[in-house]
Amino acid sequence: MDTHPLKVLKYCPMCGSEKFKPSGERSLKCGACGFHFFINASAAVAALVTDDTGKLMLVTRGVEPDYGKLDLPGGFVDPMETVEDTVRRELHEELGLKVTQLEYLFSLPNEYEFSGYKVFTLDFAFKVQVESIENLKAMDDILAYRFYSEDELDYNDIPAPSINSFVRRYFERLKKD
Ligand SMILES: [Zn+2]
Repeated sequence: MDTHPLKVLKYCPMCGSEKFKPSGERSLKCGACGFHFFINASAAVAALVTDDTGKLMLVTRGVEPDYGKLDLPGGFVDPMETVEDTVRRELHEELGLKVTQLEYLFSLPNEYEFSGYKVFTLDFAFKVQVESIENLKAMDDILAYRFYSEDELDYNDIPAPSINSFVRRYFERLKKD
């Protein structure tokens, strides 16, 4: 089933009319009240946290999609938040970590299904330094965390394409340095 917003959104969220129709490729417009809804990507962040041997932290997801699979710590940007603040907030909420330094690396688009609806994201990867990786605690929407060398990792266990690429690029960069 095609769960693209243009296919699944049937009624105007403003007035409830059925005259809520695609207007171009990335918006819907209501023929009754004029409400114009745009399909944009949601911003999200992914944090690359390492131990002092260069092993990379991956977390086990405790929420759908991909429950139980590997991911980088991170999450969606709140309305009116900066991506830097999202990194700090998510690492604190998920692991109790305090960020001391962050460096933007690169971004990749992603799409996935959630509750029968295709969600578009733009994921921003940050290399992050934290105060200490002692006394880490998995909280919020993650089940566990672990630091991996590339040999200890099966890329098939990281289903999100953007996150998978971030991890590959991290280890490629590590080999060059
Ligand atoms: Zn309407």
